[in-house]
Amino acid sequence: MRRFSLSTMVVGCALLLSACAPAYQAGGFTPNKSTLSTPEVTVETVEPTVDSPETPSTPEPPTPEPKERLAHGNEATGGPNCDVEKCIALTFDDGPGDYTAQVLDALRAANVPATFFVMGRQVKAQPELLRRAVAEGHAIGGHSWSHPQLTKLNNERLMHELVDTNKEIEKVVGFTPNLMRPPYGAVNHRVRKVMADQGLAAILWDVDTLDWKDHNLDKAMGYVRQQTQNGSIILMHDVHEIAPQAVPLIVKEYSAKGFKFVTIPQLFAGKEMLPGAKHFNRFKVLK
Ligand SMILES: [Zn+2]
Repeated sequence: MRRFSLSTMVVGCALLLSACAPAYQAGGFTPNKSTLSTPEVTVETVEPTVDSPETPSTPEPPTPEPKERLAHGNEATGGPNCDVEKCIALTFDDGPGDYTAQVLDALRAANVPATFFVMGRQVKAQPELLRRAVAEGHAIGGHSWSHPQLTKLNNERLMHELVDTNKEIEKVVGFTPNLMRPPYGAVNHRVRKVMADQGLAAILWDVDTLDWKDHNLDKAMGYVRQQTQNGSIILMHDVHEIAPQAVPLIVKEYSAKGFKFVTIPQLFAGKEMLPGAKHFNRFKVLK
């Protein structure tokens, strides 16, 4: 199990400047245009010729890029300084799913990064959507393999839900998240201890759009307006139709009020994301 700390990610970033794409700029989010589309692997084939016995009959497999070269949003470098700017983190659960592509389109159009908490079985089914999210600079956390209430599982099942999900994510995008959102926000001392052992910070929320329940954009925006404050974490689901509709409205309204949109690692930059601790927003972390 690889464990990230923010400091090691920052150091890794400093050592490998090219690994830090996409470039975040003060006050905005600039996706790395070279990684906007799903990366394709180009295999240079060598035409075998009969009179050239030295030519290998099968081409050499392409050399994989080192994992550290992969641009992804789980670095906390760059972006707004949430110590001095008002920050909000948009988060999307349960995907990759039916509305992930639309959410990614909306985030790209609004020029803001977000964080996706993905399920292992969904990543296995639709890995290309996770690859796209990472390529476009969004941060990734796990959200279990199959969405059970973690507190009801024995330790063996619990480990499967956490570890196999992270393995699936690593298989697709080359890094293991240090963030985890427990389904239903359900954790207890035992679950948090296991998460701490796995180096996973429990990322909860303080703004619930109830998009999965109401399927109503006006109600979702009403909850956002009632609950959002500096440092908030807004919960949405990229498997329901409200999320891609809400993104441009939230970004327009809160950008006009001076808020900056950041990933979860950026929201906690300068603070420590604590494995096993419950993070409700930038200022409310329960150990
Ligand atoms: Zn969920």
